[in-house]
Parts: sequence; structure tokens; C-alpha cells
Amino acid sequence: MEKRISGTTGLFTLLGSPVGHSGSPAMYNFSFQQQGLDYAYLAFDVKKDQMAEAMDMLRLFKVRGSNVTMPCKTVAATLVDDLSPAAKIVGAINVIVNDDGKLTGHITDGLGFVRNLKETGVTIQGKKLVVLGAGGAATALQVQCALDGAASISIFNQDDDFYANAEATQAKLKTATPNVDVTVYPLADQAKLKAEIAAADILVNATVVGMKPLDGQSLIDPSWLQSDLVVADTVYNPLKTKLIEDAEATGCTVAPGKGMLLWQGAAAYTLFTGKDMPTDEYQAYEA
Ligand code: NAD
Repeated sequence: MEKRISGTTGLFTLLGSPVGHSGSPAMYNFSFQQQGLDYAYLAFDVKKDQMAEAMDMLRLFKVRGSNVTMPCKTVAATLVDDLSPAAKIVGAINVIVNDDGKLTGHITDGLGFVRNLKETGVTIQGKKLVVLGAGGAATALQVQCALDGAASISIFNQDDDFYANAEATQAKLKTATPNVDVTVYPLADQAKLKAEIAAADILVNATVVGMKPLDGQSLIDPSWLQSDLVVADTVYNPLKTKLIEDAEATGCTVAPGKGMLLWQGAAAYTLFTGKDMPTDEYQAYEA
């Protein structure tokens, strides 16, 4: 490290709170070293009301780029100079690229989701999706799938503050992607959920159900799954949720959330460096 960091080393950052648990510094620093890039990546604990100051710091210190994590993703989208098409619709960002002081915000969660499916041989175009959830991960992947030409997206959410998010996404996609049929249903309408899953190509859990401490739980009755359904989860802790286990037992193609996490990071790496992240090497190193 003492030889790698020099006076010319460019900085990348992670901004959010908390950040101490993040795997991003290890992943990006490993990748920079692998590819001989003179960059370093550090995490900074920044609260929402400090984000405007943090943006000034990105410019002042000529930080090449930054990830943004909770709870700062939405406020950061209001502070950058420009937004990617997906970030404009989602209204939140997880990546900032600094081009000589001009900050552009991107959202790569949806890109990571789509790439994770692609790795299992599944494409989005023309597909009917059922998505459980309307929070940050759900919104990002719903928007990306609409931009990538999904035929329809049926969103189910419980009766909480996120339900209005689903309706807002539906309204925004009606303008941005008018050919995609987006519908919103209450999760409590179990008959509708069962019928929509029976007609779907891809089922996605983008809620916190299945994640610790809700591990061992699933919103889907296993008898509703059929083997030709593709089942994806955004949850990556545990690596296999109950939904993924039920889907595997049914013979479905599955895409657990760990892959989405890897590929959203890899998409950010490409925005940062213009290069493909050495994902195989990193996965081998991490294992
Ligand atoms: P969020 O807080 O923004 O949204 C939470 C969602 O879960 C909402 O739709 C809410 O209605 C729903 N929900 C909460 N409790 C529920 C319950 N008991 N029953 C049914 N629905 C319930 O969260 P988020 O940031 O969108 O994260 C959702 C999951 O996705 C988390 O497990 C997170 O770790 C994961 N995630 C993964 C990636 C990745 O790259 N794999 C990226 C972002 C988030």
C-alpha cells in the first residue's frame, strides 16, 4: 500500500451513513490494484444534511467519482449537475461521476439486476414481470426493466408508505415508456398475485422479506411457482432466501441478490474507469 498510494493517486469515495460495513472499498481497491490503476477508494460517513458540503468536497478534491448509499441517494440526486435517463426517472442515485467539476448522477441497481439475470441466460425484452416491493431496489429495477423493453410490470406492495411510490413509478413510466404496461396492486389481493404469477415470465422479490431478521420468510406460497418461471431476489443476506430455495426446489431458474450487488458495483466501476471490473478475480479472492 505504501508503494501504491502516491501524490498522483486519484480518489473514489463512498458517501452515506453508516458505511463501516460496506464491501465496496475492498472490492474497488482490489480491482484498481488488479488493473494497475492509480486510484484509491475510501468510505466517508456522511449524513443527508451534509451531502451538499460533500458535493463541494468532491469538486474541491477532484474526487474522480463516488458511490452514494442510504440514506443519501435521493438528496444526492437533487444536488448533482446532471442525471442519467434512469436516475432522472428513479429520482435517486448511487453513483456520481466527476468530469472536471461537472457531477453526473447514475443509478446502477437496475443495471445490476438486469445483468444478473443475463448471467443466467434471461433477457428482459418482451417479458412479463411481477415485482414485489416499491422501495429503492424495487423502483430502480422496475425503471431499468421498463427502459430495457419489458412487456409488462405488475407491482405488488403492502399497504404502507411505499405503496404511493409504486403509483408514482407507474405514473412516471406511463410518460417515459408508454409501451410498457405497468399496474399496481395491493399485496393483500392474494388471488390477483397468484393469477399474475401464473401468467408471468419473471417473479422478483424486492422487499426486505427474506432478509435478516425476516430470513426464513417468503411472500409467495411455493405452490404458486412453476418450473418455467424465473425467480429473482434482491436480498443478498442470506445468500439464498426462502423464496430462492422454494424456486430451486420447483426447478425454476433463479437469480439471487448477491449477483445483483456484484453487477451494480461492476456497472459503477465501468462508469468510473471505462473498464470492465475484474469480477471473476474478485469473486475468487472473496471466496
Ligand atoms: P426499502 O426500505 O426502500 O423498501 C422496502 C420494501 O419492502 C417496501 O416495498 C416495503 O413495502 C416492503 N416491506 C417491508 N416490510 C414488509 C413486509 N413485512 N411484508 C411485505 N413487504 C414489506 O428497501 P430497499 O433499499 O429497496 O431494499 C430491499 C431489499 O433489497 C433489501 O433486502 C436490500 O438489502 C436489498 N437490496 C439489494 C441490492 C442488491 O444489489 N442486491 C440493492 C439494493 C437493495
